[in-house]
Amino acid sequence: MSYDYDDQNIFAKILRGEIPNTTVLETEHSLAFQDITPQAPTHVLVIPKGAYVSFDHFALEASEAEIVDYVRAIGSVAKICGVDLGEGGGFRLISNAGQDGVQEVPHLHVHVLGGRNLGRMLAKA
Ligand code: AMP
Repeated sequence: MSYDYDDQNIFAKILRGEIPNTTVLETEHSLAFQDITPQAPTHVLVIPKGAYVSFDHFALEASEAEIVDYVRAIGSVAKICGVDLGEGGGFRLISNAGQDGVQEVPHLHVHVLGGRNLGRMLAKA
């Protein structure tokens, strides 16, 4: 299996500084920024800086340093946004992949959602 990464996707442009973003956290290998169309009071996207299409691509090809950095960045975002279980009411992580996952932007991203009761996990199709 090979993953074709489109370096013209909007998150690649954000990483190159060609499009602005509202940064929540930047680490060595990851960037977190506010979703432009928030679906909840907290709606932050966390992306790796590397060219990975999806979670499965990242799991297969990212270095251990990138993976540790990314997982820790997601946890830190929950804390920064005050939705972590230490202080807040909880959160949901979503990572859409491919056609059936209805992924719009083909660069791995995890949505961190919270700040209200998010309801059941999936709406009926
Ligand atoms: P997905 O459907 O999982 O690929 O989600 C893509 C997300 O990217 C959506 O929630 C969009 O609102 C968000 N998005 C698209 N363009 C931007 C942008 N320039 N800055 C921040 N978020 C964006």
